[in-house]
Amino acid sequence: MSTEIKRITHLVGGSPWTGVAERTSKVYNPATGQVTGELDLASAATVDEVVKVAHETSKAWAQTSLTKRAQVLFAYRELVNRDKERIAAIITAEHGKVLSDALGEVTRGLEVIEFACGIPHLLKGSMSEQASTGIDVYSIRQPLGVVAGITPFNFPAMVPMWMWAPALACGNTFVLKPAEKDPSASVYTAELLKEAGVPDGVFNVVHGDKVAVDSVLEHPEIAAVSFVGSTPIARYVYETGTKTGKRVQALGGAKNHMIVLPDADIEMAADAAVSAAYGSAGERCMAISQVVAVGDAADRLVKAIEDRLPKIKVGNGLEADVEMGPLVTREHRDKVASYIEGAREQGAEVVADGRENTPEGDGFFLGVSLLDNVTPEMDAYKDEIFGPVLGVTRVGTYDEAVKLVNDNPYGNGTAIFTRDGGVARQFQFDVQAGMVGINVPIPVPVAYYSFGGWKNSLFGDSHVYGPEGINFYTRGKVVTSRWPDPATSKVDLGFPQTR
Ligand code: NAD
Repeated sequence: MSTEIKRITHLVGGSPWTGVAERTSKVYNPATGQVTGELDLASAATVDEVVKVAHETSKAWAQTSLTKRAQVLFAYRELVNRDKERIAAIITAEHGKVLSDALGEVTRGLEVIEFACGIPHLLKGSMSEQASTGIDVYSIRQPLGVVAGITPFNFPAMVPMWMWAPALACGNTFVLKPAEKDPSASVYTAELLKEAGVPDGVFNVVHGDKVAVDSVLEHPEIAAVSFVGSTPIARYVYETGTKTGKRVQALGGAKNHMIVLPDADIEMAADAAVSAAYGSAGERCMAISQVVAVGDAADRLVKAIEDRLPKIKVGNGLEADVEMGPLVTREHRDKVASYIEGAREQGAEVVADGRENTPEGDGFFLGVSLLDNVTPEMDAYKDEIFGPVLGVTRVGTYDEAVKLVNDNPYGNGTAIFTRDGGVARQFQFDVQAGMVGINVPIPVPVAYYSFGGWKNSLFGDSHVYGPEGINFYTRGKVVTSRWPDPATSKVDLGFPQTR
């Protein structure tokens, strides 16, 4: 079956880029293995062209009233509600996740838009009247100018929303560099923002690879960079961006552990582990990839998880009853599959082998895998596999379980399953991770909190969206003011004192 191959290009100043790209890359439908698009990859000159437009627009956008900025975000929200099925289909066609999951992504992203609609309230400063005699002091927060977002393939609509919604609301113009594997959701976002009334040049999309990323990191007109992706690139983006004087928040990879204590509701824990490990084929930064079973929870839990696996329907995410789609590329699928054999060779027990329950066809499919008796020295434990492979490590005590989590170089999310409130509360205190679930396997914070991990899961001081997102995209200013009053005016060369 042949498919039409569409050209996907940058969006600059509200219009598709009209130049001719020196380099392009292929976009696939992971469920069929077919090429569906050819993506223009930006050169440094193209990035410069895009940033210039964003820069030229930044002053006018910063001066646009809070009411107007909120209004266009409200309008965008309506358009996403109108088109969310279409956006989900665009995501599924290039990422592979099932439609219901893609819709869930859009809905969670929309919550960040809704939070940003409150920008008039969020940007309120504080004021102290009569801080000194005749003197008032007040604080304001102002936009940075042009800011950029560099995003991963696994949430092609939601993660960009985490960034551009607060950035635009705060009065910045935006340059988005989406992942090359599934760029169409970003193009659609740009079209909807235009329809919502966002002026041309305020939101721009530049596609590309390392060349484009490096050009963004080095561009003198870009004030701040938000990055979400793997840990080695997050570290690189943070180090390179801060070296050129930019504000950078760079979120990296993860290895999220779920501790299950002997007193836990094992059926609930098994449902949670299966959902959190295999949803989106494990391609979530908050996926549970490692269960830590304490004491006699282990045998019961492994059995309960194993029982659930044959019922998971793997296939093309566009089909109604399918629960898990393909992996994003053939290379990634093969790499994920190699961990199964590797774990067996290193001494783990392969309870379910995804290679044996993979659908036929040219899609990048891999069935679900469960590895028992995984130990910290094994590659399947150490690496973020980012696929439908769940490892189980058995330990004797709560302390051993927490030590495993805290010794791990990542610190994105973690969860504990127990009926003991006291232990859960102790866990929340003890554990070194940015997002903690208590009987909740994927504790992604709601939009009015902020999202971010610890250790190698985040480089920089600032988490994304929520209150920290507003701070990240603005700078504080404090104004000390006095109005002419002869009674308080005199020459005084001493350091200003409050009176
Ligand atoms: P990735 O690091 O390969 O790519 C992310 C972005 O960086 C893309 O836009 C890509 O074009 C760019 N990039 C890739 N290689 C580069 C290089 N050598 N130099 C400069 N830029 C480069 O990540 P991915 O495979 O798209 O996404 C999966 C990863 O993202 C996983 O590790 C996952 O845990 C992580 N992730 C983290 C979070 C979080 O919130 N912490 C959220 C989603 C995904």
